[in-house]
Amino acid sequence: MFKGLGKAFWNTFFPSVCFSCGCKIKEGCLCPACCGSLKFLYPPLCRFCAKPVGDNKSGLCSGCRSKTFSYERLISILSYEEPLITLIHLFKYKMHDYLKFFLSGLIVAHLEKTGISLKTHDCITAVPMHPLKQKAREYNHSALLGKLLANHFQIPFQDDIIYEAKLKTSQAALDKSKRYENVQEAFKAKEAARDKKIAIVDDIFTTGATINSCAAALKEKGASIITVITLCKTPVQ
Ligand SMILES: [Zn+2]
Ligand SMILES: [Zn+2]
Repeated sequence: MFKGLGKAFWNTFFPSVCFSCGCKIKEGCLCPACCGSLKFLYPPLCRFCAKPVGDNKSGLCSGCRSKTFSYERLISILSYEEPLITLIHLFKYKMHDYLKFFLSGLIVAHLEKTGISLKTHDCITAVPMHPLKQKAREYNHSALLGKLLANHFQIPFQDDIIYEAKLKTSQAALDKSKRYENVQEAFKAKEAARDKKIAIVDDIFTTGATINSCAAALKEKGASIITVITLCKTPVQ
């Protein structure tokens, strides 16, 4: 799973305790029990929101059938539940940027297991972060994951084709109805998106408002196909 990453390097960066339960471990960031409790999402899932769809032949859940989306497909890897919540919090807000190796490894392993390759895409990009926000956070966590996925699939990582033009309120602070309003027109894409098949990476799929707004900006500039890859999605209520 961690091809190309030396064990010594890994051990230097990772503590010898499990981030989730605190038990002693020899390597990695989760003990085998906590690692085993990560909830991976398996098909059949809704093409737009990754909810389980059972044997429904349309491939869409009842909530998505009457809606329109600017992307062609969502691929979400895990359910946003513990111990993943703890890891994502450390990764996004506590400067544990090296968790990108573990988290992108989870994405790659699950894509391979479910027979999905991103090699058919022209490039990978990430949900952009406004420069002021990135200055405060020091890095765009989604871009860190996107770069490692691009390396793995040997396709270009192009984070310059889309940018956040308006500093918006954090989506986490808003209710569902306000989330769509908040991200409308927030993103702008560049001409380089034209005719490209693009995979956009984000950490969490919640309502899909942010990712759909990014996809709409890329489509407006002529992107042909948009696949959305998120590390996880919020659990089905
Ligand atoms: Zn543990
Ligand atoms: Zn759906």
